Amino acid sequence: MHWYDERTAIVRQALRTNFEGPFVYLLIGSERALLLDTGTGHADLRVVVDELLAGRDVELVVAHTHGHGDHVGGDGQFDRVVGRSVEEVAAFFGITSWPGEIVSLDLGERVLDVIPIPGHEGSDLAVYDRETRLLLTGDSLYPGRLYVPDWPSYRSSIRRLAEFVAAGNPVEWVLGAHIEMTDRPGEDYPMGADVHADEHRLELAPETLTELDEALAAAGPEPGRLVHDHFVVFPR
Ligand SMILES: [Zn+2]
Repeated sequence: MHWYDERTAIVRQALRTNFEGPFVYLLIGSERALLLDTGTGHADLRVVVDELLAGRDVELVVAHTHGHGDHVGGDGQFDRVVGRSVEEVAAFFGITSWPGEIVSLDLGERVLDVIPIPGHEGSDLAVYDRETRLLLTGDSLYPGRLYVPDWPSYRSSIRRLAEFVAAGNPVEWVLGAHIEMTDRPGEDYPMGADVHADEHRLELAPETLTELDEALAAAGPEPGRLVHDHFVVFPR
């Protein structure tokens, strides 16, 4: 667990509890706190979140970067959780035109922008925090294997995300939901590895999003594996 600042916590589920080792983010406002993802369920996240929120009078909102099992597995530990389907996600955040509409979520003196970015799963979201300028990208961009079952959607989503940033929303760091790269350029761990020696750092520079967008544009409509220093695009 790491406090990025006094209202922003980054939690990682230990690799020894599950090889996915997903990251979970807690963004706290004056009225609400947003917990983004709940991990694989092989760890007691609730205890950690309760501890992080101790002494703060805020309503907890639990939502997801996307609906895959390694990000929703701990849902049962929480009383109320935003649903996983596109319909449920759109309804909760007030998105009437999926995926083209970007909406805001006010946590109380802290406004987030919620950006639909389907392509990896279907209900994928990116979250931009205007306060810290962190861009949370789930499994759509992180130092690892970016699995892409829906190539056209993913390309459009990354383009929209890059355009959102270029349109006056500067990013300090891009933070995703896993680490699967080593600290050697272009080299990932074997699939399922639950020990990560010489791991790549979590945070990606904002230029990495530009790099991904340009790589997808150059690749064109045919899915292809793209090995870069900090990520590998992995069609499936
Ligand atoms: Zn994942």
